[in-house]
Amino acid sequence: MSKPFDLGGRVAIVTGGNGGIGLGMAQGLARAGAALVIAGRNANKNAAAVKALQALGAKVAAIEADVTQQAACRALVEAALAQFGRVDILVNNAGINIRKQPQDYTPEEWKSVLDTNLTSAFLCSQAAYPAMLKAGGGKIINIGSMLSIFGAAFAGPYGASKGGMVQLSKSLACAWAKDNIQVNAVLPGWIDTELTRAARKEVTGLHERVLARTPAGRWGGPADFAGIAVFLASSASDFVTGAAIPVDGGYSSQA
Ligand code: NDP
Repeated sequence: MSKPFDLGGRVAIVTGGNGGIGLGMAQGLARAGAALVIAGRNANKNAAAVKALQALGAKVAAIEADVTQQAACRALVEAALAQFGRVDILVNNAGINIRKQPQDYTPEEWKSVLDTNLTSAFLCSQAAYPAMLKAGGGKIINIGSMLSIFGAAFAGPYGASKGGMVQLSKSLACAWAKDNIQVNAVLPGWIDTELTRAARKEVTGLHERVLARTPAGRWGGPADFAGIAVFLASSASDFVTGAAIPVDGGYSSQA
């Protein structure tokens, strides 16, 4: 293992790679030498992210995709293969939240959160599996949350989806270790992105509570996810699988 963090010649798909944590991870992977395929629904955000990644010297393709749809997940992998010839890394990062008390959700809202945050990861992993087999191995990184561990009154479906991400990661890790595919979850603490900008408005006192509870004394930023992405995507982590790793400034360690 001469350069354990080198991703030269590797191809990574990042769902939700057009902003926030996904773009932070994509930038880390690009700096380590990977070619990137980013997937999101919003064409303008996709175009801006392509520019940001190309500025780092990376080969990049953006695919307009709704990863709640199995056909879109399959088409995403096909597009990566057509463009770059292989798929080595899959980051299942696309996510949404709808904040309400449990008694107020409609079944459609529940399904929308579960489909976007959890089912999409299953469908994209299934779609990428044959390509990873062909490449001789692969790395799947699933994005969980502090709500993979803790509960919150305003996050029933979101918490269920993020708890599910950890258990899905363990099952995929067990099934595909024999194929040299490692599957891990990353559990972000509170990170300043579009998603949490809305939460700060909707949940009174959230900003101050996060600062008080986080030993690092700050909110995280997308750049805080570059290092963990490179580690979990590279040969440096070949004996790490089925793990759920907090990247949270100590939030989950604080009583
Ligand atoms: P953002 O809202 O910035 O990013 C979410 C991304 O998901 C966007 O790129 C969005 O792109 C994409 N996306 C959403 N729905 C779909 C869909 N159906 N198909 C394809 N892409 C989709 O939020 P974050 O960066 O904060 O969130 C990224 C991940 O991190 C999520 O899974 C979130 O749950 C998780 N997380 C975030 C935390 C935080 O504090 N910010 C804490 C813990 C976990 P587009 O709109 O173009 O479709």
